Amino acid sequence: MPKSKPGRSASSGARRLLVVLGDQLNHGSPLFDDIDRSRDVVWMAEAQEEADYVWSHQLRLVAFFSAMRHFCLQLEKKGFAVRYHRLSEKAGQDRHPTLAGLLQETLVDIKPCEVRMVKPGDYRVEQSLLKTVQKHKVPCTILEDRHFYCTLDQFNQWADGQKSLVLENFYRTLRRQERILVTEDGKPVGGKWNLDHDNRDSFGKTGPEQPPAPITFKPDAITREVIGLVKQRFGTHPGSADHFNLPVTAKEAQRYLDDFIRNRLADFGRYEDAMWTDAPVLYHSRLSMPLNLKLLDPRDCVQAAVDALEAGDAPLNSVEGFVRQILGWREFVRGIYWRHMPDYAEMNSLDHQHPVPAALWDGQTEMTCVRQAMKGVLELGYAHHIQRLMVLGLYCQLLGVHPGRFHDWHMAMYIDAVDWVSLPNALGMSQWGDNGIMATKPYCASGRYISRMSNYCKNCRYDPVMAVGQNACPMTTLYWDFLDRNQKRFAGNQRMVYQIRNLERKSKSELDAIRKAAQAARQEAFSREIAVP
Ligand code: FAD
Ligand code: SF4
Repeated sequence: MPKSKPGRSASSGARRLLVVLGDQLNHGSPLFDDIDRSRDVVWMAEAQEEADYVWSHQLRLVAFFSAMRHFCLQLEKKGFAVRYHRLSEKAGQDRHPTLAGLLQETLVDIKPCEVRMVKPGDYRVEQSLLKTVQKHKVPCTILEDRHFYCTLDQFNQWADGQKSLVLENFYRTLRRQERILVTEDGKPVGGKWNLDHDNRDSFGKTGPEQPPAPITFKPDAITREVIGLVKQRFGTHPGSADHFNLPVTAKEAQRYLDDFIRNRLADFGRYEDAMWTDAPVLYHSRLSMPLNLKLLDPRDCVQAAVDALEAGDAPLNSVEGFVRQILGWREFVRGIYWRHMPDYAEMNSLDHQHPVPAALWDGQTEMTCVRQAMKGVLELGYAHHIQRLMVLGLYCQLLGVHPGRFHDWHMAMYIDAVDWVSLPNALGMSQWGDNGIMATKPYCASGRYISRMSNYCKNCRYDPVMAVGQNACPMTTLYWDFLDRNQKRFAGNQRMVYQIRNLERKSKSELDAIRKAAQAARQEAFSREIAVP
């Protein structure tokens, strides 16, 4: 069990301090390339600030702390000296609440000749650690994170040559470079780069056949101890630490991947955008948490999917769709994050100022779509991409929620939330706060979209077709109101011509009624308040 005291030979004559952050649990990290087991010290710390600088779902905390403690043990078994700071059971008893404070304490104690770390996934963390190391005048080396396919220099080189940053172009470049799903002469396998068209099925009226649920892992003694800690110290955070059953080691993560490839990949593509009542995961992989903690290598995920295609176990549209998410979107958002930070976090192009509505904290609403998506968020710290983008994100965008607060909410509610991936997705893609860096048009739609892709509206007191009246669907009312409010701004956007033309067909009296209904929908959404620390 890792202890908050120096490990073997960890206290004097150290050559270098090797910093491993909670989302860098990668045994293949460049930090370990030339480690000197007799002198170097690995440093890891559970810090209160990382658990509550914004709220954090209890399951997320269990995943991070348990995976970190398992990783520490594995390093110790390899003979590395590890200095690991554990959070104490009671608040106020830690040696220091912040990561930087804990690092400072170690710098004073062991006086390393160099600090090394892999580039952190959070600008805020990188800055605070760098400042601390500089204050102590210790040389610091930041290593490229080779977990990713694309280095940040490569991304910037690509981006410098583009008029605008389009995922499709980046993704094709990377597929060619990595020779994934490409033929000998550099063409896409199957003849098309993009099979999104085949990946928009709904479940129709009958619903999905019951897809096999992801495998689960029984908490071991380490995880049980962490569950106790989280309940004790962070019991007021969203969700519940009970029933934690996710992978916390590389070996378990590999089993999680195998299970997805065997049981759900084949239908992943076809039903990628579909939603259904009481079915939060469907054919999705739920691999984002182990990937973001670096328990899994994205190359292994992509290769496993390509192998399934070659073995005839999964069709091309599913395999290409899955590769697109990992090789395309995941690498793309990381590039966007580092290219635009720190200014990106402050962007609010639509000048939205509302807080996140109470329904997104407690799931209490008559809107079935929001209630259903929130059920997964509260119980599992999970919603799949379309629930995030086209239900919860859509609702906030149409209401006019501040994009930064929406990102904070996302960080608080999801097990896979890490700054570099949440910020471009939440503030950019979902809320269009970045004025189109991530997406050429806002992802705005009415309740009709949700009705087409799910059975939610069938069990809802609202009618997705209605924009005004007693049964008006808040999504539909707010959709027309959003277009109305932003008509001038988006009039020149080629991808919104159809939507704006439909708005222009509405009479003045229709628009007046929509504006009034939108005001009422907003009042209803913000009628309750949840105290957020
Ligand atoms: P699958 O649907 O099975 O996809 C496979 C993998 O592809 C995912 O595990 C993930 O690693 C990757 N991926 C898919 N879409 C994206 C994307 N848009 N950006 C980056 N990677 C992607 N993902 C996170 O990992 N962390 C976040 O904090 C996060 N915040 C998001 C916030 C919003 C508002 C939105 C709309 C999306 C966000 N995403 C985030 C992206 C995506 O929704 C999740 O990665 C995905 O839903 C996780 O579920 P899954 O593992 O079952 O994914
Ligand atoms: Fe959601 Fe509207 Fe459908 Fe109800 S009718 S589930 S609020 S989209």
